[in-house]
Amino acid sequence: MQILDGKALSNKIKENLKIENEKLKEKGLIPGLAVILVGEDPASQTYVNSKEKSCQAAGIYSKKITMDENISEKELLDTIKELNIDDKIHGILVQLPLPKHINSAKVLETIVPEKDVDGFHEYNVGKLVTGNETFVPCTPLGVMKMLEEYGINPTGMDACVIGRSNIVGKPMMNLLLNAGATITVCHSKTKNLKEKTLQADLLVVGIGKANMVTADMVKKGAIVIDVGINRLENGKLTGDVDFDSVASKCSYITPVPGGVGPMTIAMLLQNTVTSAKRFFETK
Ligand code: NDP
Repeated sequence: MQILDGKALSNKIKENLKIENEKLKEKGLIPGLAVILVGEDPASQTYVNSKEKSCQAAGIYSKKITMDENISEKELLDTIKELNIDDKIHGILVQLPLPKHINSAKVLETIVPEKDVDGFHEYNVGKLVTGNETFVPCTPLGVMKMLEEYGINPTGMDACVIGRSNIVGKPMMNLLLNAGATITVCHSKTKNLKEKTLQADLLVVGIGKANMVTADMVKKGAIVIDVGINRLENGKLTGDVDFDSVASKCSYITPVPGGVGPMTIAMLLQNTVTSAKRFFETK
């Protein structure tokens, strides 16, 4: 069994981006990312701070906008519209979840697709489905990057994705399908889950339930990607896969922490730099 080391790969990507950004700076281009945080959810605050720190380390201009929990939807949309036309900003990210009185879909659609570095705008989702180049959601993109780094080609594989969210499961399904895998997507209504997972050469798990996937659900020699992040009562972070039992049965596995998580941020930075370069080329 080999560990897919997302931490090491993300560090390598961030280091390369830093070098690239130094060269872009000489040409007068500094990639910029705006992150909007509404409310004071502690987990969201941690994610936003970590994105800001990573931007700074990679030479990306980072603009953090914090808004009160009770702001109106219109105020948030107006802020996004200003960022849409701000030349210093090449990527706009709204940290989810948003307070209940705000329509998240409307918010995501207000970001211009050219600055939608999270890949959540329906235009970009459509381009992913049709197999065209676009901004792809960072977590599944990070998974693809890891597979590529370790020489794992999904073409012809039977892949099973557990989870059908717009940010993990569905884009993962589309990326693997575009890469030539045969896909089964499972979710909370799936019957006989184990029957499906046992067929998988590649199993991607994004459920949000600690240690739910156990060794008896995994085919011998499978590649197992654990997207889940769960905090146990003792404060420890763990994935959706029971790492200790599954590790001895599979060929490759991602740890939690240190697997998919760090790749997500690296892909966000990469998408922001790509957006800045496109902006520069079309100026
Ligand atoms: P969601 O809650 O939006 O989706 C969870 C999915 O899992 C749903 O499709 C749900 O099915 C399915 N599911 C729930 N219970 C079961 C079950 N018992 N059997 C089979 N399927 C089930 O979560 P996200 O997609 O946003 O996130 C999933 C996990 O990934 C979380 O742990 C999250 O923290 C983590 N995550 C990690 C990231 C990273 O950077 N590593 C980034 C984003 C998320 P249904 O649709 O029927 O409800």
